[in-house]
Amino acid sequence: MSAVVVVGAGIMGASVAYHVARQGIPVTLLDQGPSPATGVTGASFAWIGGCGGDWPGGAQDLRGSVLADYRRLETELPHVAVRWTGSLTWTNAQTKQNSRLGPGRFRVGGSDIATLEPNLRCPPEQAIHTPSDGGIDPTAMTNALVDAARAHGATVIHNSVVTSLKMAGERVEGVLSSTGFHAAATVVLAAGTGIPKLCEPLPVSLPVAASPACRARLTAPPGLVKTIVAGPDFEVREVRDGDLLLTFPHVEDQSATSLEQAAQAALRRLQTHFRGSDSCRLLGYRTGRRPMPAHGPIIGYATQDRSLYIAVTHSAVTLAPTAGRLIADELVTGQPAPELRRCRPHRVAS
Ligand SMILES: Cc1cc2nc3c(=O)[nH]c(=O)nc-3n(C[C@H](O)[C@H](O)[C@H](O)COP(=O)(O)OP(=O)(O)OC[C@H]3O[C@@H](n4cnc5c(N)ncnc54)[C@H](O)[C@@H]3O)c2cc1C
Repeated sequence: MSAVVVVGAGIMGASVAYHVARQGIPVTLLDQGPSPATGVTGASFAWIGGCGGDWPGGAQDLRGSVLADYRRLETELPHVAVRWTGSLTWTNAQTKQNSRLGPGRFRVGGSDIATLEPNLRCPPEQAIHTPSDGGIDPTAMTNALVDAARAHGATVIHNSVVTSLKMAGERVEGVLSSTGFHAAATVVLAAGTGIPKLCEPLPVSLPVAASPACRARLTAPPGLVKTIVAGPDFEVREVRDGDLLLTFPHVEDQSATSLEQAAQAALRRLQTHFRGSDSCRLLGYRTGRRPMPAHGPIIGYATQDRSLYIAVTHSAVTLAPTAGRLIADELVTGQPAPELRRCRPHRVAS
């Protein structure tokens, strides 16, 4: 029996498994997919924002540690490579833009914008520059965490569909899955949008919506886009030299033809914004269902006897290193982390 069984090898589960395993605790990581990051993580735009953005509920209490935890992982894991490019964002509504200023975020004008993004055809008059922002390749990052967990002794099992929690009264004894029964002192559900279904036997329901979003991958001249650029109708960043990620609006019709058309339309929009982008070509696109807890992250024990732990949040690419570290400390020491006090399942469950 493992002390801890983690369900889900997206970025959240991979981070939990790594941070538990490096403390010498036996952990088993299960995922229904054939490899890590086959859920929404592999479809992510993967912008790491420590300063800006929306931080609902308890996410506010985690934001201060995000950048330090990513820097720490860069030193601990050989294959983690964050592109610390900073970001440049603007909207059409000036008032909204003003309200998004804060520590580490600066209003910049025409000449600064032209220096930061020299290929922008029609730069806005003003934008917000956040120099500390970065981005990752989400699949490579998740693989790095899973490999490191394994190197610290974790057991990783793919193609393992968890069908239910194994209950003994109110206690969770482990999980039942297509690869058999996996017993655990504590089961950690990090299964993203799969969590509500797995929690059905519990007397609570967790408000985790599944919000669809789309992302394309493009070839581009290296250095065409220098920062993370988020304008009113597009978000784009270079994920590796000559390779861009570009978000595009969700389309109701999820057929390949309609998704391809939406991705091509996003590429054409990008080409209107960037000089030198004529040679950009679509490499592929992904859609993903983002887990969106209604009131911010849900992180903590879901049963009195501490046999079940839930770990789900929006913006998990940004938050997973910090959340994984704090979750592992709670599991190993039994001491509650003050930073997680506003994330507890009993606060948000209905
Ligand atoms: C287009 C787009 C852009 C985004 N941009 C950003 C961004 O810039 N910054 C940011 O921080 N976030 C961003 N996000 C959100 C971010 O990607 C998600 O918050 C994050 O990936 C969620 O990670 P997760 O590990 O919780 O979920 P997942 O990646 O979905 O992982 C859950 C895993 O559980 C497994 N699983 C589920 N059910 C079962 C079961 N019954 N048995 C076994 N395994 C199971 C799945 O196979 C999956 O691998 C974006 C998302 C999208 C789609």
